[in-house]
Amino acid sequence: MGASTTGAGVTPLPWRVARLVDRRVETPTAHTLLLDVPGWPGHLAGQHLDVRLTAEDGYQATRSYSLAAPACGNQIELTVQRVPDGEVSPYLVDTYAPGDPVEVRGPVGGWFVWRPEQTPPVLLVGGGSGLVPLMAMLRARRAADSRAPFRLLYSVRTPTDVLFAAELRRRARDDRGLDVAYAYTRQAPEGWQGEPHRISRTDVNAHGWPPDLEPLCYVCGPTGFVETVADLLVGQGHEGHRVRTERFGPTG
Ligand SMILES: Cc1cc2nc3c(=O)[nH]c(=O)nc-3n(C[C@H](O)[C@H](O)[C@H](O)COP(=O)(O)OP(=O)(O)OC[C@H]3O[C@@H](n4cnc5c(N)ncnc54)[C@H](O)[C@@H]3O)c2cc1C
Repeated sequence: MGASTTGAGVTPLPWRVARLVDRRVETPTAHTLLLDVPGWPGHLAGQHLDVRLTAEDGYQATRSYSLAAPACGNQIELTVQRVPDGEVSPYLVDTYAPGDPVEVRGPVGGWFVWRPEQTPPVLLVGGGSGLVPLMAMLRARRAADSRAPFRLLYSVRTPTDVLFAAELRRRARDDRGLDVAYAYTRQAPEGWQGEPHRISRTDVNAHGWPPDLEPLCYVCGPTGFVETVADLLVGQGHEGHRVRTERFGPTG
């Protein structure tokens, strides 16, 4: 963390001042923040940055957030899910106002990334806000007009909690070679076949790729979710080095 892992050698990343340009409400508890970051060097889908808040008394708190979309010049997008009683996420979702500064440092990460020149099939498995870096991959795929076959399996509590719901519906319809499947853990939409459940071997078998196609699997979400899914994939026969994981924090 705090150093660039891309390019030649390791260089310390500078803190830059970012300002909020706009926000989109994604769900009752998650907002997308559009930030202007002068000097932003660009990033790959799947990378994240660190956000540092400084209180008037000098107290600082730093948290990581995934870059939700390809950069547009100096403008980047983060999608933040409010964690009850959290230190940083409630401020970013509820209080952070247009023009206000925060410090950011990034991009960070060189393993949990998807590059447009990659052609193997891809399985994305996201739990809750773990969808964010996977969404960046779907957006980068579309922007590059990539034909790499993609499947997304998204585990979410209820239909109201689905991030980027309209865009996912549109992409599932319009982006050729992309399949999107949902697993609801607490409440499923009306007409849904089956009961709400935590993601299982049956889901991964039904919505993933067979290991002999040598897909790259990207798994992101709460720690327990990631460990369960990674174990299922390896148990299914996927080689460990093709199962890339990113843990966001405790199991909610
Ligand atoms: C590489 C990386 C990328 C991330 N990207 C995103 C992102 O794109 N969007 C996003 O919303 N979050 C993301 N996170 C999670 C984020 O960094 C924070 O952990 C989260 O916002 C909570 O911070 P907080 O200060 O509000 O809560 P804290 O004050 O840190 O924690 C408050 C309480 O909530 C628990 N908690 C902490 N984190 C979580 C969590 N993720 N889920 C459930 N409970 C938790 C803590 O154990 C504690 O009990 C990412 C984390 C990592 C490591």
